[in-house]
Amino acid sequence: MNINENFLKIQSSYLFSNIAKKVREFSEANPDADIIRLGIGDATRPLPEAVTAAMHRAVDEMGTLDGFRGYPPEYGYDFLLNAISENDFKARGINIGADEIFVSDGAKSDTGNIGDIFSNANTVAVCDPVYPVYVDTNVMCGRAGEAVNGKWSNVIYMPCTAQTGFLPELPAQKADLIYLCFPNNPTGMTIDKKNLQRWVDYANENGSVILYDAAYEAYISDPEIPHSIFELEGAKTCAIEFRSFSKTAGFTGVRCAYTIIPKELTFGGVSLNALWARRQATKFNGVSYITQRGAEAIYSPEGKPQVKAVIDYYKSNASTISEGLKSLGYEVYGGTNSPYVWLKAPDGMASWDFFDLLLNKVQVVGTPGSGFGPSGEGYFRLTGFGSAENTAKALERIARL
Ligand code: PLP
Repeated sequence: MNINENFLKIQSSYLFSNIAKKVREFSEANPDADIIRLGIGDATRPLPEAVTAAMHRAVDEMGTLDGFRGYPPEYGYDFLLNAISENDFKARGINIGADEIFVSDGAKSDTGNIGDIFSNANTVAVCDPVYPVYVDTNVMCGRAGEAVNGKWSNVIYMPCTAQTGFLPELPAQKADLIYLCFPNNPTGMTIDKKNLQRWVDYANENGSVILYDAAYEAYISDPEIPHSIFELEGAKTCAIEFRSFSKTAGFTGVRCAYTIIPKELTFGGVSLNALWARRQATKFNGVSYITQRGAEAIYSPEGKPQVKAVIDYYKSNASTISEGLKSLGYEVYGGTNSPYVWLKAPDGMASWDFFDLLLNKVQVVGTPGSGFGPSGEGYFRLTGFGSAENTAKALERIARL
């Protein structure tokens, strides 16, 4: 009897468990310490009222004979698919049909599961540093190869460092599957249309597929920055886009997201829309009616300003962090069209050493950049997802360092 041995290749201690362990140990040794957590990538503000009201109504409907619903459609209810198509795409001049949208329980599941429809023979390219899910899920299915000196043998790492302006460079060797995430987690950096067009052109020329994670699209306010890869010429023949309501409307606990696979997109002559539809119909039974009604309310006239207020709140925190750190002389990136602030640890310190310093000296918790990949060493991530009060307090404390 054999297990999937690829799982044994993955380090058992995941980045965030390591952080939690260190914080727990510190708290046990210093029970009165007031620890401020700015390492989180989780929403903290309550759900918008329009969302909770819609969910309450949906609960009441489900308790009636006429309103009861069983299994939802695997790909999403028409009311949500149409709201997404109209508001997230048509309103930006992009034509995405309801049958190109797949509603799911999360962008983590979708970015992780998408590998199911691709052969293990494909080469994978990821940014470095990177959201760890892209790499780990390729390890689990055996596509990443073997670990050699902290890197996977079949993965092309695209360093995103100060030298590259924190943007990846086109890979010298052919990459079949290219994971891009903008606004980026962890660096908070964005990509403009001209730069993204180079990736779309590369993918179309090389027959590659771009797996575009736009989970933080709602944080973009600069008109030069595309919200969707489908704003770009030719993207429909080379890209899949992942979106999430998690950081848009506080759905990290409710769970709802969606993935766009254009009908035009083929790989090896096969429609990826059809393959994903088959995959979802077999392995996924849809998102609850109550959740989807909640998601639909994000697009309502009441919901829109409420959602914007929450995003503005996190953005204001991110700005407090980035401006505050800059004034203290730190080298800081991101934090404007993103909830994430990426900073260089001072005096050439290693990421984990800076983590320990902040925790032990001023009780501020962040995320060590090295946890996101080799090129993250020496960097550190703080987020705008805390409370405004704690964010300001954390800055005052860091100033005392
Ligand atoms: N993609 C990126 C880049 C993320 O940072 C996250 C969450 O932190 C996700 C996807 C997960 O989103 P969801 O909550 O929809 O699973």
